[in-house]
Amino acid sequence: MAKRKIAALDGAVMTDAGLSYKGVIMEPIVEKCEGCERIVAVEEGKYCPTYAQPERKWAHGVCNFATHVRASVDSEGKTKVNPLKASKRAARGR
Ligand code: SF4
Repeated sequence: MAKRKIAALDGAVMTDAGLSYKGVIMEPIVEKCEGCERIVAVEEGKYCPTYAQPERKWAHGVCNFATHVRASVDSEGKTKVNPLKASKRAARGR
């Protein structure tokens, strides 16, 4: 199966307000994003082509686009964050 291509912020330009992509200012990724395969490095920063405001994406729990962690609800109803094992990712072809 062909690998899914992730948009790499082609055509993004650095402006005084930040990285501009298709008219949207992209905010840098946050610490919790580290390890996510969607991160794209542009100039000095790292950005998420999937979500312009990564910090907000994490503000209400786990980013649902993240490739490195998954949220699960344990028996007490609490949300847990589970790092995905590299071997599991490999098995799924990503
Ligand atoms: S998909 Fe989510 S976790 Fe991954 S870089 Fe974007 S905001 Fe961060």
